[in-house]
Amino acid sequence: MEDLSYILNELAENREDYFRAISPPIMQTSNFAFKKVADLRKSFENEYADFLYSRGLNPTVDILRKKLAALDGAEDCLVFNSGAAAIFAAVLANVKSGDHILSVKNPYTWAKKMFEDILPRFQVSHSYIDGTKIENFENAIQPNTAVIYLESPNSWTYDLQDLAAVASLAKKHGIVTIVDNSYCTPLFQKPILLGIDLVLQSATKYISGHSDTIAGVLSGSGPMMERIFNSEYNNIGSGIQPFNAWLLIRGLRTLEARLERIDRTTKEMILFLKQHPRIEKVIFPLDPSFPQYDLAKKQMQGACGLLTIQIKAQECATIETFCNSLQHILMAVSWGGHESLIIPKIAGMKPEAFNPANPEHRMLRLYIGLESAEYLINDLSNAFLAIEHLS
Ligand SMILES: *Cc1c(COP(=O)(O)O)cnc(C)c1O
Repeated sequence: MEDLSYILNELAENREDYFRAISPPIMQTSNFAFKKVADLRKSFENEYADFLYSRGLNPTVDILRKKLAALDGAEDCLVFNSGAAAIFAAVLANVKSGDHILSVKNPYTWAKKMFEDILPRFQVSHSYIDGTKIENFENAIQPNTAVIYLESPNSWTYDLQDLAAVASLAKKHGIVTIVDNSYCTPLFQKPILLGIDLVLQSATKYISGHSDTIAGVLSGSGPMMERIFNSEYNNIGSGIQPFNAWLLIRGLRTLEARLERIDRTTKEMILFLKQHPRIEKVIFPLDPSFPQYDLAKKQMQGACGLLTIQIKAQECATIETFCNSLQHILMAVSWGGHESLIIPKIAGMKPEAFNPANPEHRMLRLYIGLESAEYLINDLSNAFLAIEHLS
């Protein structure tokens, strides 16, 4: 593996090509000119070898691709206009009519929608399993299983799969493995090195890091990525635009520094939350209380700032008052940016359906951003005070 500082600061940056500028230029061009018919012909024959048209290759995007592939420890990668597009291309490129997809239960919303709403129209079936046990994969593989779809950890309960074990099982059956690595980022988990075929992440989260760009990364072997480039990538036309690629290169500069800070703050926040009388449980993969803590320590080098808390509350309104009382932690989807966020499970259900006996209903997903622990603890403390007399 190349040194992380080298990847983030230097790799793929040929400054002599652009006036020795420190920050690479945004090559905001749709097409590239050729001087000779022979050169144009060569490019037509293999679009993956040269700049022809920016739906395919673009120099700014290329700098980003090389850095992201190196971070993943992969031969190659493609960068998409969203994480959802990376999921779509990865799956579509590896199934045909009659195939079956074996997926972990409750994968990311738009993976689920693809499996349930789109692929059945093309006779591609799926089944969901609890991926925390390797036997469940062994028992659910069918003769026509073409893809095993993983997400480790997922983003509410942080369920893990033993990536090395699933990869070796899949290889025996000739099944392609895909994992959503958005939670860990390539800094904290490198599924390719554990034998997984395709690793994807929403770059909207930590790679961008500033809540200003939507993007997705898909990494894998050279031949696999070339095949996807020549079909799904160019056909769907969902490659990242040069300006957004430039924002991600900028995000990469501080990725390690941001994650270090967030890691520290998150640990302080967990200490505060665990001792608070209104907190029943904190769910975080690198906390010793986590059911799969040993596996997390084995295959992850760190965890991000996303955790789930279970609050003690008898009424839906209590959780609403708690969230509405926060002054600094914002209520919004997504995560991975500079700003701390919260989403209560009850936002996704009708208040009448709230059942305090169901711990899931009392879950809130908290994302720790770049603010200080003290600032965030103050905000949470005030919100706890606001519900002090509420059941
Ligand atoms: C956000 C997210 C995605 C989708 O990425 P977009 O960039 O929003 O399309 C996929 N998987 C996980 C785990 C995510 O959190």
